Amino acid sequence: MVEVPPYNRLEIDLTALRDNFRQLVALVGPLVKVMAVVKADAYGHGLLEAAGCLARAGAAIFGVTDVTEGQRLREGGITGEVVVLLGGRTGSVAELLRNDLTPVVYDREYLRELAGAAAAAGRQAPVHLKVDTGMGRLGILPGEVPEYLEFIGSFPSLRLAGILSHFPMADGEDLRPTAAQNQSFGEIVAQLGVGGEGVVVHIANSAALLREPPSRHAMVRPGITLYGCYPGGDPGLRERLRVQPVMSFKSRILQVKEVAAGSGVSYGHLFRAERATRLAVLPVGYADGYLRRLTGRAQVLIGGRRVPVVGRICMNLCMADITGLDGIGPGDEVVLLGRQGTEEITADELAGWQETISYEVLCLFGASNQRVYLPERGV
Ligand SMILES: *Cc1c(COP(=O)(O)O)cnc(C)c1O
Repeated sequence: MVEVPPYNRLEIDLTALRDNFRQLVALVGPLVKVMAVVKADAYGHGLLEAAGCLARAGAAIFGVTDVTEGQRLREGGITGEVVVLLGGRTGSVAELLRNDLTPVVYDREYLRELAGAAAAAGRQAPVHLKVDTGMGRLGILPGEVPEYLEFIGSFPSLRLAGILSHFPMADGEDLRPTAAQNQSFGEIVAQLGVGGEGVVVHIANSAALLREPPSRHAMVRPGITLYGCYPGGDPGLRERLRVQPVMSFKSRILQVKEVAAGSGVSYGHLFRAERATRLAVLPVGYADGYLRRLTGRAQVLIGGRRVPVVGRICMNLCMADITGLDGIGPGDEVVLLGRQGTEEITADELAGWQETISYEVLCLFGASNQRVYLPERGV
């Protein structure tokens, strides 16, 4: 069977990804490592392609969701350090060790299993201890740190290679909770004492590394900024770091037609044409990650202009009002995310219409569409 190309294109600009990584490296300076967070299929950009590009740009540490993602990186030839952010799961230590993955740890049972397997293999397994300093999510509580350090230290087959935490409020208006949390994390780290050598200390996501520089410690963990968006959609952060969007979502018009004043458009006739209206029918809908929630809110770019999407968004179709735009026909390009001419629709804008954050927009488009990679342009 000859494959017919899909209507829609999710374009991944690897040059932008590479340059964003370089900007981050330059910002934090040579004394701070950068863990490239490529979890969740690199926020929808494609795990292997993104990690490969970042590795070529010099990334040596990657953050993935689980052992399976780590395994995929190894099979794809990534040789750097790979940290499993959700931690290894009991029952998967063989895969973890075979693929030389570094787990985030927060559980005695797991540590015991890992220590046993590593000892049997004549190996010393590096682990990063996760401390919950206020996120209320994964990690041991600060009071448990001394006993965990002792527990890990009691296994010659384990090596504490990192200690980490995570911020819940780093993109919020008030930075004081983040500064205070960083302070208490620093106090916990001090407990490592002289035994702390070779232990990488890390807590900062994109928001924290940009807005609270003392939180950078020995390593930062940017995700969203790698992909060219600003945490909290804050355009003010552009002055500290200049990144460009990596993902674009494009389609082509299926049909153009004129409907008379008073005509209803799409399910439920939520939209009724007030005047003779020219519609562009687009092969994009919620099955492509273009959520029904966008109904009555979204705009797209056609002919270099912003036009409203009108009527209910369907499973595989939606309609744009192109009244007054001349010379537009079937096959013409439509941009749902990204640039066309001088206009741009950002992931943050889509997120606003969709009542979510850019992260979710990227993951959703990535999970629902075939990707096309634009090759890296020279230096
Ligand atoms: C996702 C994640 C990050 C990256 O966060 P961004 O806001 O995308 O920079 C960093 N650390 C951990 C533990 C994460 O889960």
